[in-house]
Amino acid sequence: MDKSVLKGKLLDAVEARADDIIAVGQWIWRNPEVGFKEHKTAEYTSSIFKGLGLEVEEKIGLTGLQTVIKGRDDRPNIAVIGELDALTIPEHPDSDPVTGSVHSCGHNGQMANMIGVAMALVDSGIMEHLDGSVTCMAVPAEEPIDIEWRRELYSEGKLYFLGGKQEFIKDGYFQDVDISLANHMATNTDWKIAVRGGEGPQPGGVGFMGKMIRFKGAEAHSGAAPWNGVNALNAANIAMSAIDAQRDTFKDSDAVRVHYFITKGGDAVNIVPSEVRMEMMIRAASVDAIKDASMKVDRALKGGAMALGAEVEIDNIPGYLPSPKQGSDALWRNMRDNVAEIFDEENTLMGVVNPSPIRTPHGAVSDINDVASIMPKASFGVGGAIGVGHSRSYSIVDPYAAYVMPAKLYAGMVLDLLWDGAKLARQVIDEYEPEVQKSGYMDYWKDILES
Ligand SMILES: [Zn+2]
Ligand SMILES: [Zn+2]
Repeated sequence: MDKSVLKGKLLDAVEARADDIIAVGQWIWRNPEVGFKEHKTAEYTSSIFKGLGLEVEEKIGLTGLQTVIKGRDDRPNIAVIGELDALTIPEHPDSDPVTGSVHSCGHNGQMANMIGVAMALVDSGIMEHLDGSVTCMAVPAEEPIDIEWRRELYSEGKLYFLGGKQEFIKDGYFQDVDISLANHMATNTDWKIAVRGGEGPQPGGVGFMGKMIRFKGAEAHSGAAPWNGVNALNAANIAMSAIDAQRDTFKDSDAVRVHYFITKGGDAVNIVPSEVRMEMMIRAASVDAIKDASMKVDRALKGGAMALGAEVEIDNIPGYLPSPKQGSDALWRNMRDNVAEIFDEENTLMGVVNPSPIRTPHGAVSDINDVASIMPKASFGVGGAIGVGHSRSYSIVDPYAAYVMPAKLYAGMVLDLLWDGAKLARQVIDEYEPEVQKSGYMDYWKDILES
């Protein structure tokens, strides 16, 4: 069989499913659910996979699922990753009237892309020509929100991480995966597919760790006898000032950001606050910078408590790793070549978008970094949405660009990777140096949290 004929057949299979793929994206847009609560979306996805005759493994990381589409060999195994979760923005016109949830990060698009490639791989019968497998993953909870509730699940032993991909890693679901493919939607209509970065070391994204903080003082009558109290809010106030006083010790190149909010400031205005709770994120471009900032923050928190004679409890929470310094050049080249081959030039954006000498042009975090730290990963930008991500103005205006085109790119890459003895996939795997060994992943995180 001629490779280019088969590739044409596979891309045609995506095109033939365009209406179905768009319908999937729109159904998920209309049924938004936040992380680890994506029950409807998971059931919907599962029913589509089963309709394709695929076996589905469900309830991975609480609400996630996956299906393995087998070729002539089990390995190499390429994962195509979609994210199930939405955000909570009640002000958004399309938000769920009960929960306030809405897909204003565009994860519904990723789901449609991932399901679309599954449809095309099955419809085309292509897998009988490919020397490896494809695992389509629907992963929960990319957004690190609802921290207090997720921490309760942690206490109950139901979760360890805040993010779904890390739960998949922890539970061994990436053990048999060799290469991961993913994407994320951007808000823009100038291009439809963007290949960022290039070969060699790349500026990447930050990682983070979380903290849940509890100051404990003593309540007293604020008017009659405040001297009998220990004001936990004043302790928190001093701690916040002490954190601010250290900001100029954070190096620009580390892109440290420490941000927090008070989730409980006291019980009543006429009672000396005896309990104050805070949630915090510490972001930075390297694990060492995260550890350093965490140490300084802990010092400040303890200092605030000490000044007032209060107590402070600090609960360190695993966040997401910073993106690795070096990705897979061979995989990046294949993504670029497929974009050039499949799409018209005016629809694409190629090359380095952020040639910043600082390694962290992007202050947002994603748990895809944890996947990229243990295996070769390619991800690309997707257009078709406008407005501001994570806000009420976000909407998808070009369904074909958002939902269908990325499925074509996945399809093209999967075919190239697994063609002819999976030569290209094997090259990608052989050349790749992981930042973190799969087997050492949990210990790596424990070291960050305990330092
Ligand atoms: Zn987001
Ligand atoms: Zn997102």
